[in-house]
Amino acid sequence: YPTDKIRNFSIIAHVDHGKSTLADRLLELTGTIKRGHGAQYLDKLQVERERGITVKAQTATMFYDYKSNETTKSYLLNLVDTPGHVDFSYEVSRSLAACQGALLVVDAAQGVQAQTVANFYLAFESNLSIIPIINKIDQPTADPDRVKSQLKSMFDLDPNDVLLTSAKTGQGLEHVIPAVIERIPPPPGKCDSNLRMFLLDSYYDEYKGVICHVAIVDGSLRKGEKITSAATGQSYDVLDVGIMHPELRSTGFLLTGQVGYMVSGMRSTKEARVGDTLFHNKTIVEPLPGFKPAKHMVFSGLYPADGSDFEALNNAIERLTCNDASVSVARESSTALGLGFRCGFLGLLHMDVFHQRLEQEYGTHIISTVPTVPYIFEYSDGSKVEVQNPGAFTANPKIRVVASWEPTVLATIIIPSEYVGAVITLCSERRGEQLEYSFIDSQRAFMKYRLPLREIVVDFYNELKSITSGYASFDYEDSEYVASDVVKLDILFNGQPVDAMASIVHNLKAQRVGRELVDKLKKFIDRQMFEITIQAAIGSKVIARETISAMRKNVLAKCYGGDVTRKKKLLEKQKEGKKRMKRVGSVDIPQEAFHAILKVG
Ligand code: GDP
Ligand code: MG
Repeated sequence: YPTDKIRNFSIIAHVDHGKSTLADRLLELTGTIKRGHGAQYLDKLQVERERGITVKAQTATMFYDYKSNETTKSYLLNLVDTPGHVDFSYEVSRSLAACQGALLVVDAAQGVQAQTVANFYLAFESNLSIIPIINKIDQPTADPDRVKSQLKSMFDLDPNDVLLTSAKTGQGLEHVIPAVIERIPPPPGKCDSNLRMFLLDSYYDEYKGVICHVAIVDGSLRKGEKITSAATGQSYDVLDVGIMHPELRSTGFLLTGQVGYMVSGMRSTKEARVGDTLFHNKTIVEPLPGFKPAKHMVFSGLYPADGSDFEALNNAIERLTCNDASVSVARESSTALGLGFRCGFLGLLHMDVFHQRLEQEYGTHIISTVPTVPYIFEYSDGSKVEVQNPGAFTANPKIRVVASWEPTVLATIIIPSEYVGAVITLCSERRGEQLEYSFIDSQRAFMKYRLPLREIVVDFYNELKSITSGYASFDYEDSEYVASDVVKLDILFNGQPVDAMASIVHNLKAQRVGRELVDKLKKFIDRQMFEITIQAAIGSKVIARETISAMRKNVLAKCYGGDVTRKKKLLEKQKEGKKRMKRVGSVDIPQEAFHAILKVG
């Protein structure tokens, strides 16, 4: 396939507007997959199927015979499916790097939503040709004309260029691929230049080892060749090359403009640096501009639920991070939880998904500590540092925090006009500052806020959804740091601080958060043989306190004289319970207590 017969495109949309369904229909239409294969084909991960969201961008190559002016020409099309959720916009911009065009899918009833706006600008800034598609026109509430006028007023997209489809009934789908071929330019690479290959993604496969998804920008790649990484200078033998069709299919070569996979002698996915440029040994090429590195918005500690599983957790995290390069990992230790890791995530959903994948794909059980955002602290000795861990608030008792700054985001919120009041109230409770307030049509308001990141990582989205009956859409991008007044909130059991439960909170909110944490924890702690006090404190000042009185009877008291098997069962149950406890000083804290406090803030 010469480059003029290749098209690389992705599908971008607000979550649930039908990207993955549309992608499936295109794969069927081109005979790449059979009809009726069930759930969304490209959503391969269990977590994606369960949550109905796309987390990893997937690529598929399709072949299509295009008829025009009595002649038929065969085209090679690479489709990159992208995640829609805000936390994964890093994946979106990565996918776009390999594309020249994008299908912008908008739900015919819901119209333009917050992530439609964000994704449009990502594509627009990458100079992609944009094909607007209004999908779900089969719905009774569909109003394509209203959506067309939104697209015109917000993005200046010509209503005559808009395609109308239903990925459900198949209506209008026949126009999609011809539009891709006619309106999206072929990849611009040079066939006769030295190889320049862009590393889009990598993952670890039990049998083949590290598999890299690559885009051939210039030149070509063949099995058996030797290549070098621009980032590390390391050389590798190309062991296998091919396309995703949509399963891996070995072709032995990839040509200019193609997207495919490559297996080389890379031993660990750490060697496969996403955004790296690879080239043939002994050639000199200009490396491609890399990706903007992922910005970690949320940090939390990850510990094995059972202390002895540290190595297993270590392995699982290593494997998973090669499939999700956007997570940062550093070792840390906790007096309550032992050896573990401090991980940085792009957002709370990203963190949840990472936890779920660790459990589902690697069978590990974990305890996660209270998520925190990265603050900047200035200490009395003049040093200024980024702090990702409440434990590091004042690592050295001799120095004080003299000033602090917290990260903010620019949030876009789109809502039906009747919810404007409720949203303004929520945003001001969350210390937000309104920057813009306008209407995108007679029924929908568009608002821009600056919000402290700390205020949105803890349940903001759920709250926003619930006060707007699910109608709000929300997206954000990271913005500057602003001066803030924060304190470290400690949780103590019988006077002993539990490091894994400490958090950094705004001074104005400390009292309320402390009370909520103590109340919540009380519900999870069983009576023990002695009295237990739970306290929330700032420095030496206790701001909330609860007591759990001592237990009188032991488990067996009830069945003295009773039968032996019953006694055994009870003892076993008690043992089982113990296994899932963490002992702090003399107090046993169940794992659920660590989970329960994640959403207080
Ligand atoms: P994504 O989040 O953008 O990938 O959206 P999905 O493809 O997962 O679709 C979200 C939901 O909308 C699913 O329940 C689909 O079955 C449904 N859906 C997708 N396209 C259509 C359509 O054209 N008409 C109707 N009625 N439902 C659709
Ligand atoms: Mg999807």
